Amino acid sequence: MPVVSASSATSTDTLLRQDPEMAEIILGEATRQATTLQLIAAENFTSPAVLAALGSALANKYAEGYPGARHHGGCEFADAAERVAIARATALFGAEHANVQPHSGSSAVLAAYAALLKPGDTVLAMGLPYGGHLTHGAPVNFSGRWFDFVGYGVEPATGLIDYAQVRRLARAHRPKALVCGSISYPRHIDYAAFRDIADDVGAYLIADAAHPIGLVAGGAAPSPVPYADVVCATTHKVLRGPRGGMVLCGVELAERVDRAVFPFTQGGAQMHTIAAKAVAFGEAAAPAFTAYAHQVVANARALAKALAAEGFLITTDGTDTHLITADPSPLGVDGRTARGRLAAAGVVLDTCALPYADGRGLRLGTAAVTTQGMSEAEMTRIATLFASALREGGDEARDVRDGVRELVRLFPPYGTVS
Ligand SMILES: *Cc1c(COP(=O)(O)O)cnc(C)c1O
Repeated sequence: MPVVSASSATSTDTLLRQDPEMAEIILGEATRQATTLQLIAAENFTSPAVLAALGSALANKYAEGYPGARHHGGCEFADAAERVAIARATALFGAEHANVQPHSGSSAVLAAYAALLKPGDTVLAMGLPYGGHLTHGAPVNFSGRWFDFVGYGVEPATGLIDYAQVRRLARAHRPKALVCGSISYPRHIDYAAFRDIADDVGAYLIADAAHPIGLVAGGAAPSPVPYADVVCATTHKVLRGPRGGMVLCGVELAERVDRAVFPFTQGGAQMHTIAAKAVAFGEAAAPAFTAYAHQVVANARALAKALAAEGFLITTDGTDTHLITADPSPLGVDGRTARGRLAAAGVVLDTCALPYADGRGLRLGTAAVTTQGMSEAEMTRIATLFASALREGGDEARDVRDGVRELVRLFPPYGTVS
């Protein structure tokens, strides 16, 4: 049975003795990850060092407040860990200030809004049907309930952000903040254009870079840091760190952002996660991460091209990032059916809204498979498996499952041949 890492293997042994029921579930998940193909755009395989920090003694520590100003005693190592995380984040992204405490990407966005807005303020963000996140005004989310969101879209013909429409909407609605960032936009975002529009109407610019921030760290995507007032991000997507969030900003907003995270929206910091974020920032500063980030994009381009050759319609005709959205309807299946057939073949991905189309498309990303060591040749193989899984039925599905097993056997996520 594949193990996740040396450190978690040890803790899994302990767990196996004390709580076999939960140990089996966790080992089952590790096996699932290692024996199926992970193409969910927001997922990755974090390193054994990151997992070790997550399972460390810092998990026991309460540390409300910030380094040097805590509400609890015994924080000397917690302070040291958070100072290292902040120093590494600011150096990695060239930011004046970093808050590394948000528990998730959504918490980072909530903190950004809390720092800059009051309930009832108008916010202009990408509309949810075009790729906006829940925190960009969904009625079921705090954002949609507490703020007055206006949504911009993409050009119907190209799928690209319509910057002229963004400007028109900004002038018409005079938002307090403009949000750029998406869960499914495959292209680079023109942060300078958004800055210009924000300045035009006197709005703050918030970049929600949850997806591309890992590419930014590796120099494979433009950085929002020089343009946005506040940058929100996750640490677990392409960046390959622990599950969590962060906020980057200039010194003039630093105190407002810090107070928006704690005490306004969160309590005690999760020190084990902050230590793990620091480990991930350290990894992201190394040359190997730059190579990884560029390979992620090369793989996504190769996969988009190969899927197009198999008949999929690729939104924006390709990608600049790790992310691809594909309409499988030319192959005679809708997005949900396609996801189901792919899941049966051991390929794990999401569906997503397709702008201006009925039904849903497939959303996939190449971060996890790149971490596993796959490159362009494997992307072509994956596209072939996709087409077979969707076109054939019955016994053919078993062949696709075998093809997936072979691929992940050659590229095990933690180097353990299963
Ligand atoms: C993933 C994502 C988030 C939220 O991250 P969570 O950690 O799931 O809360 C926010 N905004 C965008 C654009 C995202 O892609």
